[in-house]
Amino acid sequence: MNNPLTMTTDVVIIGAGNAAMCAALSARESGADVVVLEKSPESLKGGNTTYTHGSIRFAYKDAKDIQAIIPELDDEELKNIDFGTYAEEEFFDDMCRVTNYRTDVELASILTSESFPTMKWLTTHQIKFIPIYGRQAYKIDGRFQFWGGMVLESVGGGQGLVNKLHERALSLGIQILYESPAISLLTDDHGITGVVYKQNGIRKEVHAKAVIMASGGFHANIAMRTKYLGSNWDLAHTRGSRFNTGEGLEMALNIGALSAGNWSSAHAVGGDRYLPDFEEGFQRLSYPLGIVVNEKGKRFLDEGADFRNYTYAKYGKLILEQPNQAAWQIFDQKVKPLLREEYKGKKVTKVVADTLEELVNKMEGVDQEAFLQEMKEYNASIRKDILFNPNIKDGRKTNGLPIPKSNWANTIDEGPFEAYAVTCGITFTFGGLKINTKAEVQHNLYQSIPGLYAAGETVGGLFYSNYPGGAGLMAGSVFGRIAGENAAIFTREKMSEVQV
Ligand SMILES: Cc1cc2nc3c(=O)[nH]c(=O)nc-3n(C[C@H](O)[C@H](O)[C@H](O)COP(=O)(O)OP(=O)(O)OC[C@H]3O[C@@H](n4cnc5c(N)ncnc54)[C@H](O)[C@@H]3O)c2cc1C
Repeated sequence: MNNPLTMTTDVVIIGAGNAAMCAALSARESGADVVVLEKSPESLKGGNTTYTHGSIRFAYKDAKDIQAIIPELDDEELKNIDFGTYAEEEFFDDMCRVTNYRTDVELASILTSESFPTMKWLTTHQIKFIPIYGRQAYKIDGRFQFWGGMVLESVGGGQGLVNKLHERALSLGIQILYESPAISLLTDDHGITGVVYKQNGIRKEVHAKAVIMASGGFHANIAMRTKYLGSNWDLAHTRGSRFNTGEGLEMALNIGALSAGNWSSAHAVGGDRYLPDFEEGFQRLSYPLGIVVNEKGKRFLDEGADFRNYTYAKYGKLILEQPNQAAWQIFDQKVKPLLREEYKGKKVTKVVADTLEELVNKMEGVDQEAFLQEMKEYNASIRKDILFNPNIKDGRKTNGLPIPKSNWANTIDEGPFEAYAVTCGITFTFGGLKINTKAEVQHNLYQSIPGLYAAGETVGGLFYSNYPGGAGLMAGSVFGRIAGENAAIFTREKMSEVQV
């Protein structure tokens, strides 16, 4: 008689976000039977992936490569788009540069070289992409010019990506169990033998030859945040999925997995100061067009250090370090038309005034005298001889300030002025499990744990202190695909051992 508390399959995948579903599709197409265990209810499926815009970073040579991913883009449409180019080497250099040369070069090399083939592979699974006209391009002389090495997003954003991955998985016979949190890994002397999970409070087991851990990081676990990231991280706003609370990492560490990467750091951005945790529309990312001040009325970061998608993930931490974990972004009418979509709408905490004196009067908690002095010095410091151009790092900078603004520096002198109240929001954590180039999780004896694989946020070693926008989804897809394929091969090898 069948035991209702146990089931058997080839590969179990823990989590049902982007990394997990890419692993599931890859394992399935390599011939394995696959069961996915997901902690959330079906209505909240997809983890952090659901909350993304679906923006994805990959290397490409030219517009022809983009056409290989979006065949619907015809030559006529391409005449109005300048995608530029983003070579594998540039992507690799970006990984090194933004992580202060700490990224695991073996993994970063696979991420960058496999990024384009993985995009094409995703299209074979009916995932569709479109150019990110709204957020990664400005229209100049009737032509869209893209910047920052990230040009495509999934149709329907993160939700669209999740829906398509899940539809595809179901059509290939992959079983997805919701409200089924994994609680521990089953092992014997030869490696992994399955997973213990709970359903309606009942302990169950799924026996398998391989397990892929793709359960995200620990950004939504306040105690782990404080333990690993340090003080005040409990006060950060929590973005994205409430289910990424680190159990997958703990389960693997409990059986001797090696930790890797930047456990004391996370992807964290500036966003609305008063929005509740997990609420969408948090981020405020047009700061390169204005300035950011703290409650002392002082600037504390270089708003124009680089393109937004190379600075936003590290600037949240700097806001967390300010008095009351708060700051204000200031803009004037010259740049208002260029502000991103998220600056509109009802859930936006902002004050507006005709003069800077009136503005700061409305900016609760800000030292008024110091702010007005800061504005005076900032406005006097701009290199007006250099032309403003938001599409390139224009070099239009400040002169002589203790904290420079290195690009896109404009005077803030055309009212009405606008100030947006921001705080730090944590998006995902950087620390994770050590994997090798086959996505096999490493043991603290520096060997692979037979049958255990990892992908996505669960993997450590790629991102340190900072992160190039769009690399999270790409990393999940690249290493999910690799993990799925290798788990399926491992399963076959194990079966042939048994038959011998
Ligand atoms: C608001 C926001 C915007 C973002 N925008 C972008 C973007 O545009 N581009 C980009 O590249 N990246 C973006 N990111 C980062 C991106 O979301 C992640 O890098 C990526 O989605 C992680 O994928 P993943 O599969 O590793 O994790 P997730 O998608 O988070 O999936 C992990 C899954 O594991 C499940 N889980 C957790 N514990 C268990 C357990 N014990 N048992 C079973 N299941 C479990 C969770 O419920 C979840 O479904 C954004 C993140 C957020 C929050």
